[in-house]
Amino acid sequence: MPLSPTARPVGGHAPAAGGLAAAALPYLDATGAEAVQVFVGNPRGWALPAADPDQEAQFAAGCAERRVIVYIHAALLVNPGSPTPATVERSAATLAHALSRGTAIGAVGVVFHAGSAVDETHPRAALRRVRRALLPLLDRAAADRLPKLLVEPGAGGGRSLVARVEQLGPYLAAVDHHPWLGVCFDTCHAWAAGHDLAAPGGMAATLDALVATCGAGRLALVHANDSRDGCGSTRDRHETIGKGAIGEAAFAELMTHPATAGVPVVVETPTERHLGHAADIATLKRLRG
Ligand SMILES: [Zn+2]
Repeated sequence: MPLSPTARPVGGHAPAAGGLAAAALPYLDATGAEAVQVFVGNPRGWALPAADPDQEAQFAAGCAERRVIVYIHAALLVNPGSPTPATVERSAATLAHALSRGTAIGAVGVVFHAGSAVDETHPRAALRRVRRALLPLLDRAAADRLPKLLVEPGAGGGRSLVARVEQLGPYLAAVDHHPWLGVCFDTCHAWAAGHDLAAPGGMAATLDALVATCGAGRLALVHANDSRDGCGSTRDRHETIGKGAIGEAAFAELMTHPATAGVPVVVETPTERHLGHAADIATLKRLRG
């Protein structure tokens, strides 16, 4: 049965090694995922691997058949705010590659990390670089109806351009609040950046702040991850939902807050042979009621 438009489809980050269809379709069946996120290359490298059209077509058909919503996570090195021109150039090329792979597999969004100013004392120059790198991509993606780009705030530290949700304001302004740029909210990153999601009402207050900063409808995807570290640690070590420092009550707030209505929620938690994700996905489905 299709989910209602206000339901929150729940899923996870699927493996892709050995072929997208071969690796990710069994994952969908083992976990009951309604949404899926994949890498389309080495997440820790710059290489832009050639497509495997058979695997891509099989994966796209398999997801369509199961009514699963697809996202791509771009390589983790992407930093459109870098002071090194070669890094900005590679970041733009990596996002362009992910957008074209995304089109082939029927993805609706490409997630990338907001980036860092690296060695700058002032973020304004970095935001100008973000503008120059992202605007042409956003314009082309919108004109050609490619997947949307989704910016994900980081865990803080290292001159992150966006960690706290309020920092999304200048980032969105840098690209003129382009309609093709959505936001991916990661609970572990927000907690690491100092949002006290574990306090009663803390998750709801953080989502309220996100909407106040970005406007309604800008939130496009949630990464639901519990954390192994304390609030404000700037450390990004994910934990099983309800087993970490954030705790299950915060995820109950997440799954019932009006800002997440209709927004897919995917886990990037530790998992052994899909079992961890199957349990996390079941937990989040229970919490959405
Ligand atoms: Zn994430």
